[in-house]
Amino acid sequence: MTEAIPIHNAWQFCPRCGADSGQVGQQPFRCPVPDCRYTHYFSPNTAVGALIVDTAGDMLFIVRGKNPGKGKLGLPGGFVDAGETAEESLVREVEEELNLVVLEYQYLASFPNKYSFSGVVTPVTDLFYVAWVETLEGMKAQAGEVDGWSFLPIEKVAAADLAFDTHRLALQAFQALNTG
Ligand SMILES: [Zn+2]
Repeated sequence: MTEAIPIHNAWQFCPRCGADSGQVGQQPFRCPVPDCRYTHYFSPNTAVGALIVDTAGDMLFIVRGKNPGKGKLGLPGGFVDAGETAEESLVREVEEELNLVVLEYQYLASFPNKYSFSGVVTPVTDLFYVAWVETLEGMKAQAGEVDGWSFLPIEKVAAADLAFDTHRLALQAFQALNTG
């Protein structure tokens, strides 16, 4: 398997006119054809993550069913769709992944992340929210996306157990908030 490359290094041809730019790695990508001049900025995608604790204070982690980080722990969440608010995405993702209904949420922090898909690394801005759910009864893992879940004391979760370092940073931000 070839090593993943940054997305700006995967662009060579103009997506509008098909011209060969003759180079890769431009940021932004600029089509060299005078009549086209299509420009593409490699701005981050947006993702959300939910911090949900049970009555014992343990944090809810999903076991990721897909790469990146298949088999590792993560906070429930996912990518924000076009036309959707981050908060709508948070509610939707938690429902899709775990069949839980988010009643309330509070913004916590954001961290820059990188997602590796199909050998290409895309920048992502991860937005984290503390979320409260109606009930933890009736949880159901989304087939193909989530292999299971665990409620764990934050301090028992090692960085190596987590798929993304941004989730570790979010847990730290949460602990800082709660230890004040
Ligand atoms: Zn072009």
